[in-house]
Amino acid sequence: MSKKILILPGDHIGPEIMAEAVKVLERVDSLYSLDLQLDHALLGGAALDATGVPLPPETLAKAREADAILLGAVGGPEWDKVEAARRPEKGLLGLRSELELFGNLRPALLYPQLAAASSLKPELVAGLDILIVRELTGGIYFGEPRGIRTLENGERQGYNTYVYSESEIRRIGHLAFSLARQRDKRVCSVDKSNVLEVTVLWREIMEEVAKDYPDVTLSHMYVDNAAMQLVRAPKQFDVLVTGNMFGDILSDAAAMLTGSIGMLPSASLDKDGRGMYEPCHGSAPDIAGQGIANPLATILSVAMMLRYTLDKPEAAAAIEAAVSDVLDQGLRTADICAEGDTRVSTSEMGDAVLRALQS
Ligand code: NAD
Repeated sequence: MSKKILILPGDHIGPEIMAEAVKVLERVDSLYSLDLQLDHALLGGAALDATGVPLPPETLAKAREADAILLGAVGGPEWDKVEAARRPEKGLLGLRSELELFGNLRPALLYPQLAAASSLKPELVAGLDILIVRELTGGIYFGEPRGIRTLENGERQGYNTYVYSESEIRRIGHLAFSLARQRDKRVCSVDKSNVLEVTVLWREIMEEVAKDYPDVTLSHMYVDNAAMQLVRAPKQFDVLVTGNMFGDILSDAAAMLTGSIGMLPSASLDKDGRGMYEPCHGSAPDIAGQGIANPLATILSVAMMLRYTLDKPEAAAAIEAAVSDVLDQGLRTADICAEGDTRVSTSEMGDAVLRALQS
């Protein structure tokens, strides 16, 4: 049966990297007879300029219809002065919450060819392959009440609410454990249960979920220790599962272990496995229009889409192998280019992946 894929290029380098990812998607569609139907829509600054809102109803309607969404990146300085509710990033947040994309998967995978690009010693990171599973639609980023109030003594006070219900913890737990089954079968749950009651419950529910996966090992770690361990000995982890705020911070730290943000894909899944796939980086206005952006994170997001939503692991593996092949050939965009490498443009990198896919 045909599958609907919605393409949201976004802003600045978004359309540049998306053009390369779509080339790759169309090629695997024909190589593996996937019967994909591609559609396009506006999101972020591009949507704001064209329609006055960052998430137009037409985009939301198409997103609800789609089996999977491929997103470039949104935002840029020209929209910095727009009021908060209409900022480009609000379009993205709105899409995530409207579609209930509660499970954010961020792999931190270091291609051995790029080990020298990491901020850590190559022996600490070579072969690194971590999957961070972050709860994306709950926790302190969404908890109510929230705001800034003025106390009786005239002093202002900011406040937020850190809240997780049992069912929210359970569903992200099941996602993490089922993903661990496809990997090294180890889940480390990150919390702050020595201080925060909400994460006492988190830990308790993770223990319960673990009983359904006797083949997967569960361990627990406080978030401060997890931050330390990620930069001390990152290869000890397989799957890390955590709440929204801790996951936000830890996944960015893990991303930097791999050297270039231009290499990292991500997925955000709903309860039925439908998802939005996007690179971890932003719209990089500083390099937009120069043809130098690295399209590999977006191309690898296509691979994640094939694996997690479209259930085509062989097509996903072919894309990942093609990326590795291109790196073996010494081809590099500017962000990952070192002495002795061959520097290529955004579209040359896309073409090289296509050639490697074909061979
Ligand atoms: P950024 O990720 O866009 O850029 C950070 C640095 O990394 C820049 O120097 C940039 O040139 C470089 N970089 C990023 N992607 C690259 C790529 N593919 N190839 C080569 N170099 C790359 O982060 P920022 O500068 O903090 O944010 C820029 C805009 O993007 C802001 O408006 C921000 O709100 C938005 N943003 C969007 C998303 C998203 O759409 N998911 C995520 C983060 C930031």
